[in-house]
Amino acid sequence: MHIYNQQKSYYKSGQTRPLQHRLAALNYLKDSIKRHEPEVIMALHQDLNKSEFESYMTEIGILYSEIDYTIKHLKKWMIPKKVKTALTHVGTKGKIYPDPYGVTLIIAPWNYPFQLAMAPLIGAIAGGNTAIVKPSELTPHTAEVIEKIITDAFIPEFIAVKQGGVDVSQQLLDTPFDYIFFTGSVNVGKIVMEKASKHLTPHTLELGGKSPGIVHEDASLKLAAKRIAWGKFINAGQTCVAPDYVYVHQDVKDDFLTYLTDAIEELYSHQPLENPDYTHIVSDKHFDRLTHFLDDGTLFYGGDTNKETRTIAPTVLTDITWDMPVMAEEIFGPILPVLTYESLDFIIDDITKQPKPLALYLFTETAYTREKVIAEIPFGGGCINDTIYHLATPHLPFGGVGQSGTGNYHGKFSFDTFTHHKSILKQTTMFDVPLRYPNQKAGLKWV
Ligand code: NAD
Repeated sequence: MHIYNQQKSYYKSGQTRPLQHRLAALNYLKDSIKRHEPEVIMALHQDLNKSEFESYMTEIGILYSEIDYTIKHLKKWMIPKKVKTALTHVGTKGKIYPDPYGVTLIIAPWNYPFQLAMAPLIGAIAGGNTAIVKPSELTPHTAEVIEKIITDAFIPEFIAVKQGGVDVSQQLLDTPFDYIFFTGSVNVGKIVMEKASKHLTPHTLELGGKSPGIVHEDASLKLAAKRIAWGKFINAGQTCVAPDYVYVHQDVKDDFLTYLTDAIEELYSHQPLENPDYTHIVSDKHFDRLTHFLDDGTLFYGGDTNKETRTIAPTVLTDITWDMPVMAEEIFGPILPVLTYESLDFIIDDITKQPKPLALYLFTETAYTREKVIAEIPFGGGCINDTIYHLATPHLPFGGVGQSGTGNYHGKFSFDTFTHHKSILKQTTMFDVPLRYPNQKAGLKWV
């Protein structure tokens, strides 16, 4: 692939490595996003009917903070770190050198099509790499603006965009990149891993799954309902870390459901399908897939749909069991199944029978419940008494575990993800320790 070879030579020239180059590139990226900000907002509106407020909050503003944070700390991150010397290694000095991987590939999904292409790119640049970005073909207007922003800021030998669908993605995956950063579905994640194994390419997989919410009997119910409504229905539920379903303690179920419907109406109005700021479902295929779930359990709230605009009102389903289709896959839409429980142990058992989720949200006021859930359920990351917020801080690594992903990023973790930590032991030439050689006497031997 022509562009790959060009990037290979550019990387070899060493130009991507110095701190000044990395800082300048991060500033160019930020400036270019700023220049094209109205086009990004317009493209997100055309592709997903995202509102300006939501686009800024979840796709653009978060990138500026990430770039600023990276620029502020990069110098420190790049300094080789001295390590202690073991007694057995007297005379040596150990250091860890942060080393770029080289030519990297970033494949992005459609649900936050701008942010999820750009956030990994910040890490790739900070790490001193070149990058080819493959945006999602399902959000073509956003893919166009991503290409514009990158072409405006960088020469393609350094950072390039390759647009296209599955064939382009597979062609890229057949190329021996030095690192692959993939965000998308579990099924495609498996393909990426298989392709990466051909060249033993290191990779990060940011995948999805069914992330549970748990509302315990001692939760602050009104807040729990509002924060769950926000996390679930933002972007019309098309969020990898959205609470997929909620387990509510039997004793507080009725109150919780009342607060939940109040919160939905407060956030999205009584007639969400008439709300011009309500996000659309990305494609007819996904719209049809989601509307089938509306037959499951009891329709407690919502359920209105409009095929023409591909909108589904925030919907709550009750009387749900695990054998129903809505519980068989990641929902990725504005439909919230609510299940009830009596004992925490029972749901811990239920959740741990499923693949490890990307996120988990627990609403409780007691440390015992909090620590028990954190200790006994494996998941990527999550919040106590909130949803989604954990991914918006540079101080926490964001990523899944097992089926929900491999690796993580954000803040320093992005730099580490796009950096090989090269261990170097510098040996003294002042003396030699004969002990390790065969047929030698103990003690030091001065050279
Ligand atoms: P997807 O896996 O269908 O597509 C992601 C990317 O892979 C796209 O660029 C697409 O062109 C490419 N692709 C699709 N099929 C391919 C194939 N057969 N071979 C090679 N490449 C292929 O995912 P999506 O539908 O765009 O996104 C939704 C999924 O992504 C959900 O499961 C969601 O949970 C997950 N997701 C995860 C995160 C995270 O940070 N963990 C963030 C957003 C979305």
